[in-house]
Amino acid sequence: MSHIIHRSLRQTPPIAASASGITMFDTAGNAYLDASGGAAVSSLGHGHPDVIAAMHRQIDRCAYAHTAFFTTEVAEELAERLIARAPSGIDAVYLVSGGSEAMETALKLARQYFVEGGETRRSVFIARRQSYHGNTLGALAVGGNEWRRKPFAPLLMDVPRVAPCYEYRDRAARQSVDDYTAALLDELETAIMAAGPERVIGFVAEPVVGATGGAIPPTPGYFKGVREICDRHGILFIADEVMCGMGRTGTMFAIEQDGVAPDIITVAKGLGAGYQPVGAVLAQGAIVDRLRHGSGSFLHGHTYIGHPVAAAAALAVQQVIERDNLLEQVQKRGATLRRMLGDVFGKHEHVGDIRGRGLFVGIELVQDRASKEPFAPACRVHAAIKQEAMARGLMVYPMGGTIDGQRGDHILLAPPFIVTAHELSEIVTRLEEAVNAALKI
Ligand code: PMP
Repeated sequence: MSHIIHRSLRQTPPIAASASGITMFDTAGNAYLDASGGAAVSSLGHGHPDVIAAMHRQIDRCAYAHTAFFTTEVAEELAERLIARAPSGIDAVYLVSGGSEAMETALKLARQYFVEGGETRRSVFIARRQSYHGNTLGALAVGGNEWRRKPFAPLLMDVPRVAPCYEYRDRAARQSVDDYTAALLDELETAIMAAGPERVIGFVAEPVVGATGGAIPPTPGYFKGVREICDRHGILFIADEVMCGMGRTGTMFAIEQDGVAPDIITVAKGLGAGYQPVGAVLAQGAIVDRLRHGSGSFLHGHTYIGHPVAAAAALAVQQVIERDNLLEQVQKRGATLRRMLGDVFGKHEHVGDIRGRGLFVGIELVQDRASKEPFAPACRVHAAIKQEAMARGLMVYPMGGTIDGQRGDHILLAPPFIVTAHELSEIVTRLEEAVNAALKI
């Protein structure tokens, strides 16, 4: 029996032995096509020689330097590169070890920004239902993933919640997209007024919803409206791009496509592409300037912030993406994947929606296409699909997300940016078999 506390305490997963390109192998000799990049992590696939070489070089030079004593050239260069590609005004970077840490950091940075400005009454974050921001207590509090929150609810700060931007489920048949978007924005402004605008720190949202929704993009103009409302009330807009950022949607930051600059952006998964645990918080210069001219420090810190080997891996990943023109590849392959899924699942009786941006693609499964009725949670359709897919040598990321108290099942696809058209076709073929086997069609 394994001594590791695995995700399932009843079942030990297969043992990963090696991995190369988009394929993973277990110790029993089975091969799996990694169509989800783990959880939208492995954007360059596995065993990329340039990233590995960069990590080796850094380990040989200096494997660790505590940030109380030093900075490093790799961390500085990574920060410069991220800022150069970030939305306007973003001018400061805080390097952490993952997504939850990035979110905790963002929440605390936002709070300290107001404290140093004398606005100590600001203590409320507003977030959306059906969202995931991480598993640490602060990140869990802003997240709207009910089943993850429930046992820990007494430990979590209160976070007023508004509806997600989820056109497939929530836009009424006779409602225009603009009217739907306007109603969502009204709801946000009402929540801010109810909390008291002078008490609100920020609005937190994933530009393209990942784990709890299956690559749900916003409607046109939604985030422009969010930005305007936040500006009107002096509230920060915090974009959680832990899953959708770093090129996954075909632009370096997903929010670029909405033409909006957030105050704070968090990234992780694709930043180090799985080669090292690394995340980052990117902030508008004005936020960090206030701390610089105020107390002089950000009251935060972890032992492994700015880890040089993590920074070296992330820097190499960003260099490869640029050198090999992978953002363009993501756009092209993303379009190919959605077309292939449309051909196979477009008329499938249990597929309600195929959506996403770039190589961040979601499929929503429904009991009934016409009424959009989800499968009953007890059917555990997402778990059955995962099992059938793994049995066919395919890694996909199916989830049963909580939708306003109702559960719905979706599959998230996030293959490495280097995936070929031939590999995409194999992924879609195996996925069709897995879905039909799971649904006993
Ligand atoms: N935010 C989002 C949008 C995520 O998808 C995740 C991870 N699924 C997190 C935060 C938390 O990241 P981590 O698991 O690296 O702590």
